[in-house]
Amino acid sequence: MTTVLTPASPLTAADRCDRCGAQAYLRVVLASGGELLFCAHHGRKFEPELKKIAVEIQDESGRLTTATTVTATDDER
Ligand SMILES: [Zn+2]
Repeated sequence: MTTVLTPASPLTAADRCDRCGAQAYLRVVLASGGELLFCAHHGRKFEPELKKIAVEIQDESGRLTTATTVTATDDER
């Protein structure tokens, strides 16, 4: 076993979507060792692609629905 797994740390408000800068709710760990962060919006948008390249997807978008009801106001910024 040469793979080193970093403990999954919760995403914070300081973690920002790589695409739009909104708060990130998905952390995508790539096979290359890189990491991508996405907001819920872009996480859903790129999910089919991400699943092809990711070794792990940490999805915390569930916090959105438990904390507040996000509707169409959660638009791309
Ligand atoms: Zn985004």
